[in-house]
Amino acid sequence: MEDRIPLSERFYSIQGEGPLMGTPALFLRVMGCNLRCVWCDTPYTWDRWGISRYGKGEVSRSTDYRFQDFVRDVRRYRLVVLTGGEPMLYSGVWERWIGEVDGDTVFQFETNGTFAPILEEDGRVLFVVSPKFPESGNPDAIRIDILRRYMPLVEEGRAFLKFVISSPRRDEERIRELVERLNFPRSRLPFQLFVMPEGTSLKPSLVRATVDMALRNGWRYSDRLHLRVWGNRRGR
Ligand code: SF4
Repeated sequence: MEDRIPLSERFYSIQGEGPLMGTPALFLRVMGCNLRCVWCDTPYTWDRWGISRYGKGEVSRSTDYRFQDFVRDVRRYRLVVLTGGEPMLYSGVWERWIGEVDGDTVFQFETNGTFAPILEEDGRVLFVVSPKFPESGNPDAIRIDILRRYMPLVEEGRAFLKFVISSPRRDEERIRELVERLNFPRSRLPFQLFVMPEGTSLKPSLVRATVDMALRNGWRYSDRLHLRVWGNRRGR
């Protein structure tokens, strides 16, 4: 059967977070996630139960996205962001599709760190990995074995860790411990380990606490530019 990926949204915007913040990009937001975060800001991709505090217990309709759509998009856009939900639910399909297209379009996966990297030899592919601590509502989502597989890509400048901060003091300790356990390359910390405030609005006190945490530890702060520009609007 022909490969297809269920998309919740496909839109053109600027990348609002992480290492490519401000870059124009096509976003492909898939349906479905294997985790259940209580602060998920895209609950319409999976949360029919009302688990996320930002959801209404409703999921959006999906549309099928096929290889021919992908080929057309890759010809047109220089940066394609694979996000969700959890895009690596479809890692086998992405692997086939990306492997079949030429050109210099960059593919950035935004993933929760419970799936091993793919296309490790393909320099066009970047990963922003956002591990989830138990307070997210997922007691076993920190997969050290899998996160270690991203460390060679960190060394190559192709993988980044990004932590969503909801409780600064608690999260800071957790991140420090994880950095040790992963043996995250020290020289890469100021460039490739992000802390980013949680929420669908940017609470000034949390933004400040997150910046302070970044400065204390020599980590990188990520803002959420799309929220500043458009607020919490879908398709932006
Ligand atoms: S891993 Fe990401 S998409 Fe999945 S529930 Fe958590 S925040 Fe939402």
